Amino acid sequence: KKITIAIDGFSSTGKSTLAKQLAKHLGYVYVDTGAMYRAVTFFAMQNGYINIDSFDKEILINSLPSIKLQFKFNADLGFAEMYLNEVNVETEIRTIEVSNFVSKVAEVSEVRAKLVEQQKEMGKDKAIVMDGRDIGTVVFPYAELKIFMTASATTRAQRRYDELIKKGDTVTYDEVLANVEERDYIDTHRKDSPLVMADDAIEIDNSYLTREEQFEVVLDLVNE
Ligand code: C5P
Repeated sequence: KKITIAIDGFSSTGKSTLAKQLAKHLGYVYVDTGAMYRAVTFFAMQNGYINIDSFDKEILINSLPSIKLQFKFNADLGFAEMYLNEVNVETEIRTIEVSNFVSKVAEVSEVRAKLVEQQKEMGKDKAIVMDGRDIGTVVFPYAELKIFMTASATTRAQRRYDELIKKGDTVTYDEVLANVEERDYIDTHRKDSPLVMADDAIEIDNSYLTREEQFEVVLDLVNE
């Protein structure tokens, strides 16, 4: 039986690693909804709608119809990459600059409405693992399995820092920790679909779990 799996939680809790691994194992589609919010943010930055000093929400809302988001599977990498108006933006959307603005863009209700609609459409045939912040609560409230991932802010900042350094970024650990904490705050305090655990989600704190251990825990839940 094919099911829908929703994986939510704070940033850098290893949601996407787990979701990718699960999708691969089950032969399901994997969708990283954070990439969609990041692509809209990158679009806003490219067009000068958002910068350190200002954010023109109205103009972003008005240009939403001209933003086309697609996931295209890359067989060499084994996962789908994000395309913004037919351009591969997979690298551009993972920078610290995009991370610094994305939660502000994700606060905009019109942005959320557009992305949620597209996400629901992607899930209509089930057999999907989707990760984000509001998947179990808003996108797929009827998902058969909902996981909520947590880990301490310092554990998460260290992971994100290691990833960025590996990619050649020149951030400091303190900068990354500040970003993780700021996003936690904005994500849990926004008016529209704040980050909360769904009542029927299962919480997994992976501060002290290896990737393999958490995968085993979740696979047991899928097979229940
Ligand atoms: O998962 P990731 O860290 O790439 O997500 C980037 C940001 O996008 C989050 O911090 C959050 O502000 C926003 N987001 C969201 N709803 C989702 C996925 C991501 O608001 N379903």
